[in-house]
Amino acid sequence: MYFRHVLRTQFVGTRAAQLCPFLRVCRTERSLCTQNDEVKLAQEASKRYGSPGPTIFSKVIDKSIPADVIYEDDKCLAFRDINPQAPVHFLVIPRVPIPGISAIKDDDAQLLGHLLIVAKNVAKQESLTDGYRVVINDGKDGSQSVYHLHVHVLGGRQMSWPPG
Ligand code: 5GP
Repeated sequence: MYFRHVLRTQFVGTRAAQLCPFLRVCRTERSLCTQNDEVKLAQEASKRYGSPGPTIFSKVIDKSIPADVIYEDDKCLAFRDINPQAPVHFLVIPRVPIPGISAIKDDDAQLLGHLLIVAKNVAKQESLTDGYRVVINDGKDGSQSVYHLHVHVLGGRQMSWPPG
């Protein structure tokens, strides 16, 4: 399913750009602008959080790898998980490469709150009217695999408790 998505994304991206010069210019300007922003954010994050360096999610943010992005603003992105564990499974990540929730500072409350508000809004957009689960894994015991803070939102099926 992922490969189908990658192929579709790449095909749509390149075909659309070939057919529409305006779109090609926008795509180029957007990715250049975003990458510059990302470098600056990464440098600041490294000072503030002791960032372990860029992860695969930095590439999702700067659009150098394809992802099914379903929401984005100046602070965060939401995109579908590559290996969904429920009919709807998306991640909300800050643009700033914070390694995980344990690296969050007390004065990051506004950013953290924003991620949760976006999680709620996108869950509504995804029609998760019967509820959903919000998860943040942290560190080894939390089975975190990508060290860029992310909020999982899973829905579209009955969840069980406790989680494994
Ligand atoms: P963690 O285990 O760190 O809480 O979750 C990381 C999540 O990121 C996993 O659910 C995994 O499937 C997802 N993931 C890892 N690499 C990629 C990627 O390149 N693209 C997308 N969309 N999801 C990814």
